[in-house]
Amino acid sequence: MIGWILTAIAAFFVLAYFQAPILAWTVAAGALAAWLSFLAELGTSANIVLGLVFVVVAAVLNLRTLRRLVLSDRILAIYRRIVPEMSQTEKEAIDAGTVWWDADLFSGKPDWNKLLAIPQPRLSTEEQAFLDGPCEEVCAMTNDWEVTHERYDLPPHVWQYIKDRGFLGMIIPKKYGGLGFSALAHSAVVMKLSTRSNALAVTVMVPNSLGPAELLLHYGTEEQRSHYLPRLAKGLEVPCFALTSPEAGSDAASIPDYGTVCKGQWQGKEVLGMRVTWDKRYITLGPVATLLGLAFRLYDPEHLLGDKEDLGITCALVPTNTPGVNIGRRHLPLNAVFQNGPNSGKDVFMPIDWIIGGKDFAGKGWMMLMGCLAAGRSISLPTSSVGGAKGLARITGAYARVRSQFKTPIGKLEGVEEALGRIAANCYMMDATRLMTAGAVDLGEKPAVISAIAKYHMTERVRKIVDDAMDIHGGKGICLGPNNWVGRGYQVIPVGITVEGANILTRTLIIFGQGAIRCHPYVLREMRAAKEMQGKAASIEFDDAFTSHIGHTISNGVRAFVHGVTSSRLGQVPRDCAPETRHYYRFSSRLAAAFAFLADVSMLAMGGALKRKEKISGRLGDVLSMLYLVSATLKHYEDQGRQRADIPLIRWAVRDALYSAQYAIDQILSNFPVKPVARLLRWTIFPLGMSFRPPLDSRNHECARILLEPGATRDRLTGGMYVGKGESDPTGVLEAAFLATIACEPIEKKLREAVKAGTLAPRSGVDTALAAKEKGVISADELTAWQRRESLRRNVIKVDDFPQDFGRAEILARLAQEKALSAKAA
Ligand SMILES: Cc1cc2nc3c(=O)[nH]c(=O)nc-3n(C[C@H](O)[C@H](O)[C@H](O)COP(=O)(O)OP(=O)(O)OC[C@H]3O[C@@H](n4cnc5c(N)ncnc54)[C@H](O)[C@@H]3O)c2cc1C
Repeated sequence: MIGWILTAIAAFFVLAYFQAPILAWTVAAGALAAWLSFLAELGTSANIVLGLVFVVVAAVLNLRTLRRLVLSDRILAIYRRIVPEMSQTEKEAIDAGTVWWDADLFSGKPDWNKLLAIPQPRLSTEEQAFLDGPCEEVCAMTNDWEVTHERYDLPPHVWQYIKDRGFLGMIIPKKYGGLGFSALAHSAVVMKLSTRSNALAVTVMVPNSLGPAELLLHYGTEEQRSHYLPRLAKGLEVPCFALTSPEAGSDAASIPDYGTVCKGQWQGKEVLGMRVTWDKRYITLGPVATLLGLAFRLYDPEHLLGDKEDLGITCALVPTNTPGVNIGRRHLPLNAVFQNGPNSGKDVFMPIDWIIGGKDFAGKGWMMLMGCLAAGRSISLPTSSVGGAKGLARITGAYARVRSQFKTPIGKLEGVEEALGRIAANCYMMDATRLMTAGAVDLGEKPAVISAIAKYHMTERVRKIVDDAMDIHGGKGICLGPNNWVGRGYQVIPVGITVEGANILTRTLIIFGQGAIRCHPYVLREMRAAKEMQGKAASIEFDDAFTSHIGHTISNGVRAFVHGVTSSRLGQVPRDCAPETRHYYRFSSRLAAAFAFLADVSMLAMGGALKRKEKISGRLGDVLSMLYLVSATLKHYEDQGRQRADIPLIRWAVRDALYSAQYAIDQILSNFPVKPVARLLRWTIFPLGMSFRPPLDSRNHECARILLEPGATRDRLTGGMYVGKGESDPTGVLEAAFLATIACEPIEKKLREAVKAGTLAPRSGVDTALAAKEKGVISADELTAWQRRESLRRNVIKVDDFPQDFGRAEILARLAQEKALSAKAA
């Protein structure tokens, strides 16, 4: 009997682990029943009853028509009642974009070979030349203090340069005069610009993100494309896109702005058009835009377009010189000075063919916006955040080496080192995520869920990085001025957190909410069968999806348990991966199975209410996100040719992510509303307790060292950023001081030893070096090197001070003179 029980348990685990088909379960159950009958020496009648029960159950489970009749159709009827109705806008948001590696993670069985086979994204020669040429040049031309404190805008020559060199048309194909860049190149440009000036990066980012150009490319009529795209590509038009209004922020589909289809006079003729009223705010580039992408709800009360009265959200392109369009006023978003402001119009008449795509696309605006959202969201905020991370990593490491307190470079003090190590490892993981996500867009994906993961986690990580960087800089980071390279970054971080889907909403509603429906192998099929299909087709589809779903859930539960008791030893490892990272794939397989199981049980236990339980769904989203970030990091290590020197970064980042995922699961289980289910889940997912640990201090030390030493590893980690040139540039002088500090460390040692030995009296800075030279402790060359280092160091640690009016009077006089001169020249 013990043998039978053990065999039954083993059979259950093997069949479930490999998600065996129902027939295999039936054969195994039949064999076990026969064995049981033999063991128990059942009589003929008992055998007949057992046999009959078996045959009936087997028939119901294996014969589809019977199974639908007896089981699935009944469950479908209940399912139809409990699944909440979705609005058209919700449906369009769910259907938008594509699923990619996120679907593998959601399956609970990510195929790591597939991950490593994804081609590494690469820049073309032309794209690299653009980065090395115009991109470097515009960075050198831009002085962020002048932009943010003096002009509150980019200088006119920088505006002209970015227009002339095609920066505003990177996503526009060459046939329309654009640069026709890949997503990777687009990302590399935005990243570099954001390491120099936020206003510069945002000004370039917005026209290349969701807006007129992207919408025209996908939905515009040929006439609209050939008129606007060449003008947008050359910067003859400055675009903006206005969706947000005072009453509709996150809930953008509820915009109150409206238009009514009517006839009216346009250029002396009567034409079919719309009278539109709107009041928008927060619109980037809005105050200086010449072309306003406008979203509003369109009504057709006189049925001039068709039968429907409420046509829905509609997107139109409105030249801002149209009578009645009000632009020009500005917001000041935390001292970020990219152009941003409100705009409005009342009963503005515009021809119907201003609708993007023409009148056939009236009412299709939400679908258009959702369809185009993923590409821009994959690039803009993730990339500018990575730019911020790289810039902060490089300069904070340099500053922590140049700045000494307690006779020690502050970067070598353990407390500072802890923050520095975190910056380095987060920076690595962020760059890996940027590259994998941009690569997905270049492969033709519009990764809806992944773009939300990248947007949320890159902006959140750069927020942590800038906090760490500020702490390390102390007062130097706080006092604003041309010599403060951190403070402006700190100020603008909340902008990235808020735009393109504010972060709380993105985490709690989109990542898991959309992921659970789009990426899950069966949920969308079940929902479609229940809500969009009828009769036999619905029955067949639901039966297939539902039975597979049950097998999938059981399999993931068993796999999570087996990985838990075996310390993930059975987890899949890709055929060709670095030996030093093998265990991370196995650990991730364990977490993926646990996540998939937990997601299914949560949906089952909470049903539609899970949508409102944002604390649970947010944490489920965290687990999915950590798995994506780990995947990107492991792939990046392979793509970069397994750089052994980067291993501390990978170890810290991956361990931190696995630990965070485990923490999120623990929190879900502690707060799970159905307590017995929570206990069962905990036994299944953590049968031997929670085994992932936070990163070790020794790894943190190694990560910090990377930023404190010049060399290939630091250059690789911060690759693609703009490094200030020359010693008159605030970050250029920091780089020079960093190198000089390291070069002078042996001299410093000599001086310290001479003081200790009593050869030299303890004096400060250059005086000690002069005395040391006189006493022959150091050579003349060493004195020169030391003096240079001292001058650079003083430059680096100085902070700016201002007259009482912060120099405003002088600045205004200078700008007025410049304006008068340019008016005279014109
Ligand atoms: C500098 C800047 C530039 C911008 N540029 C543009 C632009 O060019 N074009 C444009 O159309 N818009 C633009 N926006 C608007 C931006 O997209 C919105 O600010 C954003 O959608 C959030 O709306 P809100 O600020 O009104 O916040 P609210 O919607 O009021 O949200 C407040 C808080 O509630 C949270 N929240 C809301 N709903 C939920 C929910 N269901 N679950 C959980 N949390 C929720 C949000 O996450 C947020 O934390 C810009 C905004 C700023 C600040």
